[in-house]
Order: sequence, then structure tokens, then C-alpha cells
Amino acid sequence: MESTDLGKSPRDAFAVVLVAAGEGRRLGADLRKAWVQVAGRPLWWHAARAFADLEGLSDLVLVAHADDLPALRSESGALLCASAGVTACVPGGAQRQDSVLEGVRATGSCRHVLVHDAARPLVRRERVLSLLDALATHEGAFLAQKVPSTVKRVTASGAVHETLPREELRLAATPQGAPRALLLELLERAVAQHLAFTDEAALLEWAGHAPLAVEDDASNLKVTAPEDLLIVQALLSRSLPRIGQGQDIHRLAEGGPLILGGLEIPADVHLVGHSDGDALLHAVMDALLGAAGLGDIGDHFPDTDPRLAGISSKLLLERVLSDLRDRNLAPHQVDCSVLLERPKLGEWKARMKASLQELLQLPADRVCVKARTGEGLGPVGRGEALAVHCTVLVTEAGPPTAPA
Ligand code: MG
Repeated sequence: MESTDLGKSPRDAFAVVLVAAGEGRRLGADLRKAWVQVAGRPLWWHAARAFADLEGLSDLVLVAHADDLPALRSESGALLCASAGVTACVPGGAQRQDSVLEGVRATGSCRHVLVHDAARPLVRRERVLSLLDALATHEGAFLAQKVPSTVKRVTASGAVHETLPREELRLAATPQGAPRALLLELLERAVAQHLAFTDEAALLEWAGHAPLAVEDDASNLKVTAPEDLLIVQALLSRSLPRIGQGQDIHRLAEGGPLILGGLEIPADVHLVGHSDGDALLHAVMDALLGAAGLGDIGDHFPDTDPRLAGISSKLLLERVLSDLRDRNLAPHQVDCSVLLERPKLGEWKARMKASLQELLQLPADRVCVKARTGEGLGPVGRGEALAVHCTVLVTEAGPPTAPA
């Protein structure tokens, strides 16, 4: 059945211009704002993803700073663009309005253009759809938020002139949309007259149009200060944990103690290994490295390296955690199973868990160490070896910090 039969007409084709050309580097890490990494991707990527796959989308043009174009046109940049649904990248201009004009010029044939700020990565798709619906009946429309606080007009010294009726006030957000032909004409006219408007709604108002404010919610925040980034980080990282799994098996030999989970467990056997043989910490490290895409423990600590002979695995784990920290990652949860025929580890489970909690800086409810036997089967069952299986979740540790 055609969608028109349901009383709903197919959406007009629209393009999105994503403005990411700003020079600002105040958010740290010496990156332009649009390139600050959140959940492993730049801010502009998250902003673009809000539009990708929307019905009717014809082009998604990324307007970038000219200095960022080579990176965007590299092989990895092209992959990043493709995964965000970006169809073209163009250099921006000196001011936001110049960048918008370059972006609109780069769009192909379509009915409407939506202009969106790359610093708003949390815009909700249902709000974008409401905006597109509004454009079907209005010459221009923009997402706007109600003002949550009472607003005062004050003098320079802070004396109150008046209290403004906040039900009449709106905070203009993006996206902002208009017919492509109208937007292009007004932008070219404004630039020719050396007039600079800070948003497309103001441009439309200047030309005598009455754009519609479409209700938005406060989650569509604009990242301007480091604390905004913390919120965005928390919301975008929450759904993007990284998973890693690790396994290890070590041969058992006569004579204790058994070093496991960073503890010395009294036993008449020990684990054979180039380091201290702590198979539990090795499996945790392998899982952490896997979650960070950093290869395996052998890549980092080859058993041919004489400096690692007899080394405490706790020191190796510290290095792995440091490698993760360098990538803004931290362990979030660890679940381990130790398989050993004897000695029985039952009474040591709680202490191994406490040791892992301390080493990984995790609360009790996110660390588990389980113990079981090999049921008499295989090398574990025959008492020849100890094996460990481990699964970890790794999340972003926090916002990037500026280099000292
Ligand atoms: Mg090992």
C-alpha cells in the first residue's frame, strides 16, 4: 500500500548542512570544537548521525574548517564521513553565515535545507521530523526551547529593569530549515550587503518572513563549555561500552605459592610462566586490551623479553591501564571464571575479587571472580593446568583534557 493511501504524503526531499567550521579550541585537547572526541568519534559525527537514514534526505554536507579538509579527504576521513552519512565536505568561511552559504551552495536539488550546528550532537530525530512537518506548511522553521527560568532585563550594574514574560520567549536552537531557493537567495543578499545574521531564522525575519518556532527539548544542548561536554560524553558513551574477552591457561608445577589475582595463595603448586604466571591478571589484561582494540598481551609483553622475567603481573596490568587511560578509556565491569582442580579456591574468591576491585578501581558490584573445577576433564581436570576466562566492559573515562 502506498504511504499516500494512509493519508500521509511522502516527505519532500531535503538536504542538511552541518556547520563544523568554527575555529574555537576552548574545549581542550587542542582540537577545533567539532573535532573533540566523544565516545571515540568527533562531535560532528554524532551531529550528522542524527540525520543519516532519514526518509527524504538527499545530501548531508559537512562544512569544515579549510585546514580539516585534508583529514576528511584521507582514507580514514572518508570512512568516518561515510559512516555518518556525510555526502560532501566543503570548506567554510570566516563567519557562520559564510559557512552556511558554502554549504547550501553544495547541496543538490531538494525542496528544503536544514542547517544544523555540529556542536549540537544530541538533537533528537523525532524533533527533526516535527521540524520537517512544519516546513510543509511554513516558509521557515527552527527548533526552539522554552525558557526554564524567569528572565530579567537588567542594567549594567545589575539593577532590574523588568521581568520578561517567559511564555513569550524561546531559545533558538538548530536545525533551522527553509526552502533551498529562498535560503540561498537571502544568504547571497545578506553577504552582498555585509549583513551577518547569527541564525537562519533571523535572516528570514530580516526578509519579512515569519519562521515557526517548533518545540525542542533541553537535551539538544549546544556544547560551548567543558561542563557541556561532560553531559554529552555521559549521554553518548552510555550506549557505547566496549566489550573485551580474555583467556589464559598456565601449566601447574610442584611447589607454592600460587600467584593469582595479585594474591599469594598458599598451595603446593604454582603457575609456570615467564612473568609471575598470574593467569587471572593475564586474562583480565587480554580482555582490556581487546576492548581497546590494542591487540593481545603477547604484543605488549613478549615472553622473549628478559626484562619481564619473573615480573609481577600487577605491574603489567598497571601499564595496560595506563595505555587505556591514554585513550580516555577505563574498565567499567569485569567478570572472570577460574578453572582449577585443586586447591579449591572457594574461600579465596572474595579476596581475589577484592584484589581486582583495588587494582581496577571498581566498586564491588562490577567485579566478579567465579571458581570451578574441570570436572576431571582435560588438562585442568587432570590437575595439570589452571585456566581463566574473562569478559570486561570498558567505557570512556571522561572528557579530553588539554595537554599541559
Ligand atoms: Mg599468561
